[in-house]
Amino acid sequence: MSSVSSSLEWLFGDILKTRLIVLQEMVEKNTKNCEVSSEIMAYYRCCVSACHNDSRYPDKIVKHGHVEGELHWHYLPKNPKRRAEWTEQVSKGLESFLATDNKVVCSNHFQCRGPTFASPKPTLYLVQKKESLCLENKEL
Ligand SMILES: [Zn+2]
Repeated sequence: MSSVSSSLEWLFGDILKTRLIVLQEMVEKNTKNCEVSSEIMAYYRCCVSACHNDSRYPDKIVKHGHVEGELHWHYLPKNPKRRAEWTEQVSKGLESFLATDNKVVCSNHFQCRGPTFASPKPTLYLVQKKESLCLENKEL
């Protein structure tokens, strides 16, 4: 009888110990994540509403066919006139948009991967296409 209870105790204790280790690992992981994010904060998230590109999720990044080479991130221009032009473009489809210094636009929205003399502002893929939605909601 006593051998059964002691082996149960042994099992139970072992499970508890394992859980404790898992918990400790979780805490350590979370602490590390927090440290990284507060230290670096170097990630880019495209501010175009129709675009979900985010440098933190490289697997999910979408690069359109016209973009040659790597996808680039472009900060909103400092020049107020140019910033207003970009803002007008990237805020399409948004109820409100705050043009701040840390907002970036990815290569997908430029004719030539980034701003050029011929095409200085983002013009492509600025709003989500609604066609598929309309099809789904078609009247019976
Ligand atoms: Zn984008």
